[in-house]
Amino acid sequence: MIFLKTEEEIELLRQSNILVGKTLAEVAKLIRPGVTTGELDKVAEEFIRDHGAVPTFKGFPNQYGDPFPGTLCTSVNDQVVHGIPGNTILKEGDIVSVDCGTYMNGFCGDSAYTFCVGEVAEDVRDLLKTTKEALYLGIENAIQGKRIGDIGFAVQQYCESHSYGVVREFVGHGIGKDMHEDPRVPNYGKRGYGPLLKKGLCIAIEPMITLGNRQVIMESDGWTVRTKDRKYAAHFEHTVAVGPGKADVLSTFEYIEEVLGDKAI
Ligand code: MG
Ligand code: MG
Repeated sequence: MIFLKTEEEIELLRQSNILVGKTLAEVAKLIRPGVTTGELDKVAEEFIRDHGAVPTFKGFPNQYGDPFPGTLCTSVNDQVVHGIPGNTILKEGDIVSVDCGTYMNGFCGDSAYTFCVGEVAEDVRDLLKTTKEALYLGIENAIQGKRIGDIGFAVQQYCESHSYGVVREFVGHGIGKDMHEDPRVPNYGKRGYGPLLKKGLCIAIEPMITLGNRQVIMESDGWTVRTKDRKYAAHFEHTVAVGPGKADVLSTFEYIEEVLGDKAI
């Protein structure tokens, strides 16, 4: 069932999503060779709780009912999404997708950004840049009267024209009082197909794009999704509200990019 949000509800969603953006900026300050993903997670959890919110990922059950142990999903290099923060030490040339969710005043925030650790190979930087551009192309299509397939089409078309893989098994989603609501928001699709986009629909758009083949596998931890061919993957995510004009982007990369400065992708 799709829940359309009122103006008031959209403002609450914005507050939760702004906190996600600020949390990711705190994480951005720490990303460098030598830091562990567990250290990033600890800082993020404290920051979220200090702001009167709750990390939504923590305790979220997977298909086996096992609770996610972290506040962040930290997915390094060939890991696509849902990487578990812990003892993994980031090193020069790595990339790390940091996905963060908050619950505040009854509404969820959800946004992700893929960071470079030190200097990263040119082809990997290009992957990140294209994935972020694809996210914004998807957002451009999140307009009242269009359909979910228009968003996926835009993302898929752009990424495949760069010969990248578009992950199918994991998709974006509706968002509101629950982190995952209807509809599913795939990063592939056909123009003019899928659920109609109506005013007040709030969705998380999150391209997961690979440097090689689009196939992914689940690691034995029951969470971490990585590319089958072990090539790198990128992931950027915004939560947006649909209206008659340009989508209202409720999450923000502004704070992150202030921290990154001219190193931003
Ligand atoms: Mg997310
Ligand atoms: Mg999401």
